[in-house]
Amino acid sequence: MEQLKNFIAGEFSPALSGKWIPVFNPSTAEHYCDLPDSDEKDVEKAVIAAEKAFPGWSGTPARDRAKILREIAFKIEAQKQVLAHAESVDNGKPFQVAFGLDIPRSASNFEFFADAITQFSSEAHATDQQAINYTLRTPLGIVGCISPWNLPLYLFTWKIAPALAAGNCVIAKPSEVTPMTAYLLSKICIEAGLPPGVLNIVHGYGHKVGAVFSRHPKISAVSFTGSTRTGAEIAKTAAPLFKKISLEMGGKNPSIIFADANFEEALATTVRSAFSNQGQICLCGSRIFIERPIYERFKKALIEKTKALKVGDPLDLFTEQGAVVSREHFEKVMSWIEVAKKEGGQILTGGAPAKLDGRCKKGWFIQPTLIEGLPAHCSTNQEEIFGPVATLIPFDQEDECVEWANSTQYGLAANLWTQDISRAHRVAGKIKSGIVWVNCWMLRDLRTPFGGMKDSGVGREGGWEALRFFTETKNVCVKF
Ligand code: NAD
Repeated sequence: MEQLKNFIAGEFSPALSGKWIPVFNPSTAEHYCDLPDSDEKDVEKAVIAAEKAFPGWSGTPARDRAKILREIAFKIEAQKQVLAHAESVDNGKPFQVAFGLDIPRSASNFEFFADAITQFSSEAHATDQQAINYTLRTPLGIVGCISPWNLPLYLFTWKIAPALAAGNCVIAKPSEVTPMTAYLLSKICIEAGLPPGVLNIVHGYGHKVGAVFSRHPKISAVSFTGSTRTGAEIAKTAAPLFKKISLEMGGKNPSIIFADANFEEALATTVRSAFSNQGQICLCGSRIFIERPIYERFKKALIEKTKALKVGDPLDLFTEQGAVVSREHFEKVMSWIEVAKKEGGQILTGGAPAKLDGRCKKGWFIQPTLIEGLPAHCSTNQEEIFGPVATLIPFDQEDECVEWANSTQYGLAANLWTQDISRAHRVAGKIKSGIVWVNCWMLRDLRTPFGGMKDSGVGREGGWEALRFFTETKNVCVKF
């Protein structure tokens, strides 16, 4: 059985406790490797390593830091096949998704911030011909990065890359549910020549490792992606210590289809936005609002396309839907389908585990599920399910739809479909979410601000926003 290791001070080590946590392959339900069950002592060891590395790394010219980050990107790209296979085994997602999305994007994250840091500049303000103000942005020191299991390497690198580019030393914790590609990344960092202690990866449970980041006096900032519940805990601990925090949290996103939408494009993208990665993307559209005149036609076509999705062995190249990430998550999603039925929802397709033969017969697979007949304010339509489950809701009036779309505690993303340009702008302006896609979904430009409103987030990632988060701002005023 393979044992993954922590990566601290450029070396691999087990947890100081000597304990291990089992990791499961969701498509077979097999225990296939172990990860270190680290705690406060391992984090302390990482802090010491990061402290030692900080003067050297922060003093390294940006173009030289960028060279190393580009080399990491290059090596991720070169090992795409191996990394995508590892991600698929660890997470249950189709290999094709890992190969086409997760791993290329992980490489792009490093490449993008390598370029960005060489272009990062700050403002100067001339004040009434008697003084000049200029802004300095310096690295924070040691920062903590915590990521979830749904897009493991993609989101892990989305935080680490800007933090390192800005000159910080990082202590990072991947999800204990999907630790494999973070472990493989530590090997890549050594090969790419990242100096020891600049990036430290401490594996383990959130309450034993991640929680230390929010209270450790030498960790200046915490960048977190995960559930709203965990984000609230981090905020509670970090606030009295006045740490910088960036929280990317849950979502319950609306897909809004107006009757004048390009039917075929809206249909194909709605299937993708509801079920990509088994519905386990924070940006997935899980509430599908359809304008009444096309409701029945759209519903029928959506059911057909959803039924046609191939649920199968994630390593099979024709598989479109893999396993959900864990037994616990499988049970959570299935229990939400029961709640939906109790609330009066009618299952249009799916609604049950997907039974596979052979290697995957014990895996945690769920049929892509569509449900109708539920009001916008019931708990199925208010709470995040984070699985292959979406509801269909007809609407008559634009305002009614906007009110329903905005009715949850979340405000991460929305996608809307119309060919009426005025309506597109009007509705985009009224939707309370950090991202609105018009006639598209998940079309990403890494320069744009990424994050959520309401209980979906605090702060923004991406582009300059990320580099500003990972730096301290100082204004210098010089009188002539
Ligand atoms: P989670 O909150 O359970 O765990 C996320 C990470 O936090 C893990 O690494 C976990 O070990 C760690 N953690 C747990 N308790 C902690 C604590 N007390 N202190 C510090 N760290 C702790 O979330 P999850 O189940 O891994 O991920 C799914 C959630 O992530 C969903 O709610 C989804 O919407 C959200 N998500 C949001 C975004 C976004 O960009 N907004 C992206 C992906 C996923």
